Amino acid sequence: QVTDALAKEGPSSPSYDWFQTDSLVTIVIYTKQKDITLDSVIVDHQDDSFRAETIIKDYSYLIDIELSHEIQEDFSVRIVENVGKIEIVLKKKENTSWKCLGHPLENHNSLIPKKDAGLYYRQCQLISKEDVTHDTRLFCFMLPPSTYLQVPIGQHVYLKLTITDTEIVKPYTPISDSLLSEFKEPVLPNNKYIYFLIKIYPAGLFTPELDHLQIGDFVFISNPEGNFKISQFQELEDLFLLAAGTGFTPMVKILNYALTNIPSLRKVKLMFFNKTEDDIIWRSQLEKLAFKDKRFDVEFVLSAPISEWNGKQGHISPALLSEFLKRSSDKSKVLICICGPMPFTEQGIKLLHDLNFSKDEMHSFTA
Ligand code: FAD
Ligand code: NAD
Repeated sequence: QVTDALAKEGPSSPSYDWFQTDSLVTIVIYTKQKDITLDSVIVDHQDDSFRAETIIKDYSYLIDIELSHEIQEDFSVRIVENVGKIEIVLKKKENTSWKCLGHPLENHNSLIPKKDAGLYYRQCQLISKEDVTHDTRLFCFMLPPSTYLQVPIGQHVYLKLTITDTEIVKPYTPISDSLLSEFKEPVLPNNKYIYFLIKIYPAGLFTPELDHLQIGDFVFISNPEGNFKISQFQELEDLFLLAAGTGFTPMVKILNYALTNIPSLRKVKLMFFNKTEDDIIWRSQLEKLAFKDKRFDVEFVLSAPISEWNGKQGHISPALLSEFLKRSSDKSKVLICICGPMPFTEQGIKLLHDLNFSKDEMHSFTA
C-alpha cells in the first residue's frame, strides 16, 4: 500500500481504476502529475503477472496483478498528458464479464523510491547483428509482444545472460538505428525494436558470449536506469558532446533529439576520441550529418593514429577543450555531455571545472 510517509516525501500517491466492455478491459492510472510521457510507463504481461510500472519523478508506482481472466498477447498504452492519465487497453480472450480485475501480487499499488524498485527483466530475441567497426557491432533485439517499453534518452538498460550457470549482467545504452533520418526503416509498431552498439572485447566476460548468440536467440533486458533528464535541454543554445570509444552511445539519441526538438539550439559539437581511425563508430554518418545540418560539427581526436593522420591527436586535455568549447555567444545556455572510459570522464569533468563550467552545465554518463 501507498504509505503516508512516502506520499508526503515524494509525489502525491497515484491511484488506479478499471472498467470493461464486452471485448476490452481498460486499466486507468491517475498519476496526478502533468509531465507524464509515453516513456514513463513500462508494461509487461509474463506468466501470471500483469505488471505496469510508472516512473513519476524519482519514484516508481507499481500495478502488479494476477488477472482473473485470460487476455490476448498485445495491448495498447495511451497517455492523456495534460491530466497525467495512463490508459492500458487489454483485449479479452473471451467476451465474458469480469467480476474483478484479479488478485494483487506483492508490491501491487505501491509507490517507492525508484532506486529501491529493483530491476525487472523480459526475454528479447536477437533479430540482427551487423559489423560497424572491426570490433563493434550493431545489435537489434525485439521486445516480446506482451511488453511495452521505451527507453528514455540518456538512459541505459542491463543485458543478462547465463554464462556457465552464472547470471552475468552488464549495462548498455540503447541507440536509434541511425543518425540520418533517410536511413531509417519505417516506424515500427509500438517501438518493438531496441538497438545497441556494442564493442566485443575478446578477453571480456560478457561480450564474447553476446557475440556468439545466433539470430533468434534470447537475452534478458531490464527496465531503464539513469539520471539524465530531458529538462536539461530547456532553452539550450550550445550543446557540446565529449565521447570516447563506445562512450559515443548515449550521444546518438541526444543528437537525434537535440537537432529535431530544441528550437533554441544554435550549435551542437561532438569531439570524438578514439585510438585509431578504424575505431571510429559511424564516421561516415557523422560526416554526412555535419554536411546536412549546419548546426552540427564533429571533430575526431586519435590517441594512437598512424603517421599520416593530419587531424587532432592525443588524450583529452586543457588545450583541446578550451579551443573546442567556444560558446556561440557570451551568455549562451550550454550543456556539455561526457562519456567514455572512467579515467577519461573523470579527467574531463575536472578540466571542465577548471574551465569554469558549472555543475548544471555538464552531465557525465556513468553506471
Ligand atoms: P570485461 O570482462 O569487463 O573486460 C573488458 C576489458 O577489460 C577486456 O579487454 C578485458 O580483457 C579487460 N580486463 C578485464 N579485467 C581486467 C583486469 N583485471 N585487468 C586488466 N584488464 C582487464 N559498452 C558498449 O559496448 N556499448 C554500450 O552501449 C555501453 N553502455 C554502457 C553504459 C553504462 C552505464 C556503462 C557503465 C557501461 C556501458 N558499456 C557499454 C560497457 C559495458 O557495460 C561493459 O563494461 C563492456 O561491454 C565490457 O564487458 P565484458 O564483460 O565483455 O568485458
Ligand atoms: P578505448 O579503449 O577504445 O578508448 C577510446 C579513447 O578513450 C582513447 O582513444 C582515449 O582518447 C580515451 N581514453 C582511454 N583510456 C583513457 C585514459 N586512461 N585516460 C584518458 N583517456 C582515455 O575505449 P572503449 O574500449 O570503447 O571503452 C569505452 C568505455 O566507455 C568503456 O569503459 C565503457 O564502460 C564506457 N561507456 C560508458 C557508458 C555510460 O553510460 N556510462 C556508455 C558507453 C560506454
